[in-house]
Amino acid sequence: MDKIGVLTSGGDAPGMNAAIRAAVRRGISMGMDVYGIERGYEGLLDGEIKKMEWYHVGDILQRGGTILRTARSERFMKREWQEKAADILDTFGIKGLVVIGGDGSFRGGAALSRLGIRVMGVPGTIDNDLGYTDRTIGFDTAVNTVLSLISNIRDTSSAHERATIVEVMGRNCGDIALHAGLAGGADAILVPEEEPDINSLCRRVIKGQQSGKLHSIIVKAEGVNIGTEQLRKILQEKTGRETRTVVPGYIQRGGTPTGADRILASLTASRAAELLYNDEDSRAIGIAGGIITACPLEEAVEMKRAFDAELYRMAQVLS
Ligand code: ATP
Repeated sequence: MDKIGVLTSGGDAPGMNAAIRAAVRRGISMGMDVYGIERGYEGLLDGEIKKMEWYHVGDILQRGGTILRTARSERFMKREWQEKAADILDTFGIKGLVVIGGDGSFRGGAALSRLGIRVMGVPGTIDNDLGYTDRTIGFDTAVNTVLSLISNIRDTSSAHERATIVEVMGRNCGDIALHAGLAGGADAILVPEEEPDINSLCRRVIKGQQSGKLHSIIVKAEGVNIGTEQLRKILQEKTGRETRTVVPGYIQRGGTPTGADRILASLTASRAAELLYNDEDSRAIGIAGGIITACPLEEAVEMKRAFDAELYRMAQVLS
């Protein structure tokens, strides 16, 4: 293969730029032409495609967001537009694509793959919700962002003797809440994978209060089946402790990527370029037990993420 494209799609994640840089530079280093496609599948359909040179991806390794920008494309969900996208790629002579994004972006990639384009998925999403890989690019940065927030909230919560519920992202995956809650010493962690036990949560807060604890930090994933405001009211009523909520929202998506995310992005996107160079079948690149892996793309999109229940129990014990 001598011409490949790279795009970012779905929600942005810190480390996407590091992945673009790696795909472009690894591709060029093997003698391929690498094209940057702007605004994901939407930009592909609009023909927003330009040849990338080595220097185009200079000074981006440390930047959050994505220089190619990203989008969600309604029309690309339809077969006729997927065929149009394959035709556009064909016009440019592009036979392989590096798709940096989450589950939906990979499904889009799988659709293109069925139309004859080789597609390598690189896991770019803060949610860590892909079943075939231990980690996704952006997750570590998001966890660290929430951690620094928890540490700030701890100070002010103690000063006012309050309880604070921090609602974090992750859609239906509780990994950001679990990891940030464990590392931040939260009093309780609520995740969508485990039915919330509100009475036990209230008892925990009261017990903390009785033992002289000045603050209570509860980390709650957005996908939990009880609203954050509703939970705040219940908690305040049942514990008698003033309870506030903090929703950092998109702050979790931004910022400079951590070293771990930059390395994961560099390794997975380089592997994607190498597999395309070797004309391999479409794959999703990931990491398992510290080793870079490449799982057939169609299989990867069907794999459900297994929740680490053991880690969750341990976090409960230590809090
Ligand atoms: P994140 O997890 O950060 O939200 P994502 O990749 O899952 O990222 P989505 O909005 O689900 O984000 O998907 C991005 C784009 O991929 C969609 O806008 C659409 O164009 C395409 N896409 C999603 N699902 C499919 C599908 N089943 N078939 C074809 N294309 C799809």
